[in-house]
Formats: sequence, structure tokens, C-alpha cells
Amino acid sequence: MNPTRLFIVLLLSLVATACNQDNSDIFHDQFFAFGTLIDLTLYDVDPATARQASEQVEQDFQDMHGSWHAWQAGDLTRLNEQLASQETVTADPSILPLIREANRLSQLSNGLFNPVIGELVALWGFHDNPLPIGTLPDKDTLKKLVAQLPSAADITIEGNRISTRNPAARYDLGAFAKGYAIDRAIDRLRELGIRNAIINAGGDLRAIGRHGDRPWRIGIRHPRQPGILASVEIEGDTSLFTSGDYERFFEVDGTRYHHIIDPRTGYPADGTTSVTIIYDNAATADAAATALFVAGPDEWLTVARRMGIRQVMLVDADSVIHMNPAMQSRIQFEPGINAEVRLSEPLP
Ligand code: ADP
Ligand code: MG
Repeated sequence: MNPTRLFIVLLLSLVATACNQDNSDIFHDQFFAFGTLIDLTLYDVDPATARQASEQVEQDFQDMHGSWHAWQAGDLTRLNEQLASQETVTADPSILPLIREANRLSQLSNGLFNPVIGELVALWGFHDNPLPIGTLPDKDTLKKLVAQLPSAADITIEGNRISTRNPAARYDLGAFAKGYAIDRAIDRLRELGIRNAIINAGGDLRAIGRHGDRPWRIGIRHPRQPGILASVEIEGDTSLFTSGDYERFFEVDGTRYHHIIDPRTGYPADGTTSVTIIYDNAATADAAATALFVAGPDEWLTVARRMGIRQVMLVDADSVIHMNPAMQSRIQFEPGINAEVRLSEPLP
């Protein structure tokens, strides 16, 4: 960075810090974790408590990120190594509840959210190991992995002991850990007496309380254009999560290969460009956004029912927007958006 830019950045960060300290109504902080910028907003909290809370939350996020990482050495990679050697292992307490919940949601999703397809995700190069440009994974390896297809049902948990009968089972919690971490962070804020807050991880978020006398207004990214597709107002305790094929992808011969894999085929799920879920807790919203993305325009309603999800918007590969009535009643499209909307039956 050249000296002038460095000066401007320093100046801006000083101004930002000063704003945090002087304005007792609203407090903002940002840091990197889980591969994304985490944005913390606290409302109506005294500055000392806000600073203490944000330091604590950032520390928690760094700890969780390290412990639950799918390929950098930590508690989860250690568990994966042990499962690969078919041992029965004592799970670290920092990952056991997370794994239990991932397995439960996976079974509810009919295995479309599958937290043990780490080998497949790695084969597609999404563990920071990109394939050589212009190439796809080796077909035989892919076929073999799909045939062995590990599922959450292959994992046995007794007390704190975990084992698997499937040697191909490898945890990758990329579709779920961010949501789970946001829930833990909200618990932490509540412990500190904070009632109005929002934790936003690159557009996936959970809010509690209100923004003064008005609700929080949240934009949902357009899957194919820069900017916003729609917005919603949220208040109380609500999470909003979107899974999209634009987050991580590469192209070969004009075809997009993205990071949400259909465990039934071993290939990136087709038919969907994005799915947005509104639900109370973030962990379920995160897992469901991934599961319904894989389910696609024909099966999303069935999987939503099984998972107890009540508000869904799915944009399909032809840009048709599928929603249930409860979602439609709270979504406001941006001016100029003229998509075909297909309304489903109500979700209970
Ligand atoms: P993002 O992390 O971009 O918000 P997701 O929550 O949908 O998107 O998570 C995608 C990540 O989850 C992938 O990068 C991969 O690590 C993992 N993953 C991919 N396909 C599946 C699947 N069918 N079930 C569970 N996890 C998956
Ligand atoms: Mg997800």
C-alpha cells in the first residue's frame, strides 16, 4: 500500500473508532472469520460493554473457526483422521454438539445437506486446492466416492464416543458452521445483557431486538446482477441465510461448477441459483439453505416441510422465483425487478 493510501485508511479507521466511542446508540465492528467479513452491530449498548462484547465475540469466532475448519489442522481435521482409520474416538467437547446437530439436520433433509461429503468437496477443489484451469475432477474417483456415499446415518454417537462404518465419511461443516457460530455469538451477547444486535457474515445473519423504533432492513443479493434483488424487514429473533451458486465457482467450457454439491450425483447441484431462508436460529437456516438449494425447484417444498422451514425464496436456473405465501408477504422486490413468481402451497 502506498503511503497516501495507508494514511487515508488509518484516518478512516480512526474516524470509525471515534464514531464507535462517541455514539452510544449504535456500535459497529468488523473482523474476518469463516472466510468472510463478519459485521457486528449493537444497538443501545454503552460503549464499554459494546467494546468488551465485540472483543469477546471476535475471540469466540476465531476459536470456532480454528476448531471447526475442514482442512486446516484443528479438532475437526483430527476427528476426520481418526474416523478415516475406523477408530472409535472421544470427540472434543468443542465439536460434539455441533456434530450432533449437523447429523440431525442432515437426516431431516433426506441427506441433501450432507456434512460428511468432505472428500467430494475436496475433489472439486473447494478446500483451497483448485483444480488445474480447464479441468474437472477425475471421473472414476468421483464415481467411486458417490458409490461409497457416506451419510450422517453412517455415524454412531454414544455419549461422547463417535465411530463410523463408512470409511469415506469426512466432515466438512462449510454449509453449517457459520450459522452455528452466529448462534453461539448471539448467546454470548445475551449473556452480556445485550438485547438489540445483528451479526452479519457476508449477507448471512441473525438479528435480535430492533434498531431503535424501527425493524432491521436487510437486502438479499441478486444472484445474477450486482446489487440487491429484494429486501425484508426483520425484528425479534430472526435469521436470514442465502446459499448461492455465485459464492465460489469456476468455469470449464462455459459451464459453471460451483461449491454446493448434490450428494446423489457428486456434481454441483443444478437447477437453482440461490435460496434464501428466514428462520429463527441461524444453524438451521444455514443447513436448510444448502439443502433446499440441492433440492431445487421441484423438491424444495418437500424438504422444507421435513425440516420445519416456513419461509423460503428459491431463484431457479431460469430466473423464476419460487416462494411460499408467508415469504411473499414480507419480501419487497427492488424497483425494476420483473421476475416471474411461482407461489407454492402454504407451509404450516
Ligand atoms: P456459503 O458457505 O457460501 O454460504 P453454503 O452454506 O451453501 O454456502 O455452504 C457451501 C459449503 O458447504 C461448500 O463450500 C462445502 O464446503 C459444503 N457443502 C457443499 N455441498 C454440500 C452439501 N450438499 N451438504 C453439506 N455441505 C455441503
Ligand atoms: Mg448453508
